[in-house]
Amino acid sequence: MTYSKLDIEKVVDRLLEVALGDIYVLPVDIRSIFHKLGYTVRDYIPTNKKDIGKISGLISFDKKALLLNKYDSDQRKSFTAAHELGHVSLHAKKGFDVIYRKENLYDSVDVNTEREANYFAACVLMPKYLFIHYCKIFNGDFYKLAKKFNVSNEDSIERIEQLRTHLAYSF
Ligand SMILES: [Zn+2]
Repeated sequence: MTYSKLDIEKVVDRLLEVALGDIYVLPVDIRSIFHKLGYTVRDYIPTNKKDIGKISGLISFDKKALLLNKYDSDQRKSFTAAHELGHVSLHAKKGFDVIYRKENLYDSVDVNTEREANYFAACVLMPKYLFIHYCKIFNGDFYKLAKKFNVSNEDSIERIEQLRTHLAYSF
């Protein structure tokens, strides 16, 4: 099954409501969502030198475990976790057991699945109404938005583009 953007937004809204309730603390704590879903989150220490900086993390649906590359930045770990949370929420029944997330955009699963997980990650790390709220406060400053939501500048710029139609004015 493939998901539309709207489908993904609905899944994210439901998840955030269940996991975080009415209280949103920024940046969104993806690890605590994983804990609420019964997952353990651990450091992954690449044993093979060439894997360092290449494999960002892996997730096992059967073992309910998320592993994040110990050497990645906090911000990158957060994105990896959010991306993998997308796989948990959207693709866990697709017959995968373990999914590896590599340095490049696409891991072993198909391109659509990766795009869906990336869109999910953007929606969960930068919840729509909060992002719009801060976008107005910061007058569209992507750098301040990136800091507030603990994402990369690129991710914050992309989210502004995604939500541009919801913003009452342009900057
Ligand atoms: Zn993936």
